[in-house]
Amino acid sequence: MISRRDFLKRTAGTALFVGGACGTIAPSAKAYTLRSKPKLVSQIATICEMCKANCPMVASLYKDGTIRLAGNRNNPIHGPALCSRGLAATRLLNHPDRLKFPMRRVGGRGQGRWQRISWDDAVQEIGRNIRKTFATRGGDGLALFAGGRSARHIKSFFTNLGCSNISDSSADRSRFIRALGYGTTFGTVPDPALVNLEGSRCVVLLGTPIGENVLVPQVRQFSKALARDDTQLVVVDPRFSAAAAKAQHHLPIKPGTDTALILCWINYIIENELFDRNFVEQSCLGFAELMDHVAPYTLERTATITDLPKAHIAGVAEIMGQAGAATTIVPGNHLSWYGNDVSRVRAGAILSALLGALPQSGEELFDFTATSKPVDVARVLGRIRSADIGVVGIWGQNLVQSESPSYFVTKALRDAKFVFCTDIFPSETSLYADIILPEASFLERDDFCKTWTAQDRKVIAGSFKVRDPLFGARPPFDIVAKIASASDLGDRFSSGSVKSLHELDAKGLDTNLPGLRRAGGVVVQRVSLAEAELVPGINDEVLDDARLEEKDPFLPPVQTFKTPSGKVELASSWLGHNGYETLPEYAEPLPVPEGFIRLVSGRCPVHTLTRTSGNSWLNHEIAENVLWLSEVGAATYGVKHGQRVRLESSDGLKSIGLIEVLVTPGIRDDCCYASHGFGNLSPLMSEGYNQGFSVSRLLSRSRKDPVSGVCGLRDIFVRPVRG
Ligand code: SF4
Repeated sequence: MISRRDFLKRTAGTALFVGGACGTIAPSAKAYTLRSKPKLVSQIATICEMCKANCPMVASLYKDGTIRLAGNRNNPIHGPALCSRGLAATRLLNHPDRLKFPMRRVGGRGQGRWQRISWDDAVQEIGRNIRKTFATRGGDGLALFAGGRSARHIKSFFTNLGCSNISDSSADRSRFIRALGYGTTFGTVPDPALVNLEGSRCVVLLGTPIGENVLVPQVRQFSKALARDDTQLVVVDPRFSAAAAKAQHHLPIKPGTDTALILCWINYIIENELFDRNFVEQSCLGFAELMDHVAPYTLERTATITDLPKAHIAGVAEIMGQAGAATTIVPGNHLSWYGNDVSRVRAGAILSALLGALPQSGEELFDFTATSKPVDVARVLGRIRSADIGVVGIWGQNLVQSESPSYFVTKALRDAKFVFCTDIFPSETSLYADIILPEASFLERDDFCKTWTAQDRKVIAGSFKVRDPLFGARPPFDIVAKIASASDLGDRFSSGSVKSLHELDAKGLDTNLPGLRRAGGVVVQRVSLAEAELVPGINDEVLDDARLEEKDPFLPPVQTFKTPSGKVELASSWLGHNGYETLPEYAEPLPVPEGFIRLVSGRCPVHTLTRTSGNSWLNHEIAENVLWLSEVGAATYGVKHGQRVRLESSDGLKSIGLIEVLVTPGIRDDCCYASHGFGNLSPLMSEGYNQGFSVSRLLSRSRKDPVSGVCGLRDIFVRPVRG
């Protein structure tokens, strides 16, 4: 293992953003010097699972047992760098807090008192409960909260049991909303981590905290865009974020009014003929309806709604109009804000279309045949409380922090009939489990390949085991196979071996595992013409080359989109067909109660929500969040810079830990700000316990998006109270 001191050496000096909020990308192992370098034994390629970017990485194993991680140099998309979290992944292995053996609860729910049991006893108990529930209520008597790559097998098993109560909170809040916003417009869904910012002349970030939320490929592109003199950066954010500090144009918008701003930009761009008329006439449907729909969003009215100067709103529209197709409105992650989020994301997609700025790189197709929405978590929690659901599985999720309101989650888990939890660390959610199972980390297991498409290249990365699981931890496939067998429902789970599944997966990607290993874990394929044409943003030169290569130079230029009409649907036929508004609507944010201000939240560059709050190397960098407050806000509540306070919500919830106040001109007077990822309340975590405060624990009300059904997480109103 490398020491914390070594780790800091590797991440130091490469800060991309100066000031309090820094995103660091560490150099690869080349820049790393050791006092005495042990002998290298082998190098193994794998995929980082410290966040959803899943950067390909290479683990170097040394004779003294040390493992060092670096980015995979063969990978043209992510580049040869990892962020601090990726580099700190080896800390997962021998961490003293790690779950080491299966355990059975012996204390009350939430107390986290367990006794060690054998794997056989643990899976028999889980299997018995699944069997009993399944026999009486079928799959509907089960619920599963699971996310991340390791949850694939348990999701597959529960799905095969007919369970539809499966929630993946992170995917619902990001990918699902983005899919509805972009997919209904273009037919394809962009990957925000892979958007081509380097080629943009105008980059627009609407609440997307690049630099504070560090995704290596995205930050890499962002840095390249910033390095160009001819790129304008526009940041729309109520506070002066790390990205705003780099922007030519910062619009400190009133929280919750972004959709109105985008509709106004659309109106301005249409009225002033700044849109791509040829593209709109040839490739878009619904322009006339759109024009009527946005007409009420005049500069005057929108300036009042958003609390932004008219000249600034118009100025940015002019810049976008000049940049035209070289404008990128970054699609963003974690999009569940105020319960009208599909409209906001869709408005951004429509604005891009008017400019002829099509989504680029990494798109997946939108499934127009799908009808299911994310599971209604509040309803499932209610059914768990009333014992209508007999078995609750939790896999790598910290529900208490990720679902809202968190007190409702803890009540449901306290009353649940049977809960099993699989994780690497004892999160506060795992304290409610009857049986807890220790999972192998990504460094201790093989996994499926991962692919990315950017421009004319498809990158395929392999995920190979770096070392055997430590202690009593097991890989996810083995755990699920044992549970399936113990429940007498083994026939509902994959009959093949995990090895054969991985081989099949690689074969489906036109590669094979030995070849991937030999290639250093990454192979790069040229995208075929057929595939390239599915990617609307792919540049014409690439397509022309591909056509020539495929000996069909007479193929006409293709501008078809994977929507029902084959055109970009400014007014969505699919949304209309399913009973929703065909065009994006602005909904006013909830009014702030008298005596309170809105709490807005964001990301911390060295933590992945609460999943890394126990990592001592990362905690050494940022151990707790701080509360941004304007001078007016501080004076209103009688608090001073550096003072430690509690937060009290308008519904009477109080933060448990104290939080330090940062009085700054970098935030509006009507809101305060803190980053997520802190306030972990699992006493079994020796690091990170009760450090800072949890934003989500103060959430008690949320509005549901009418299209996605996903609840917003930003209607939190608080006041600082002196500790
Ligand atoms: S961005 Fe960082 S944490 Fe996320 S996958 Fe890449 S290296 Fe890992």
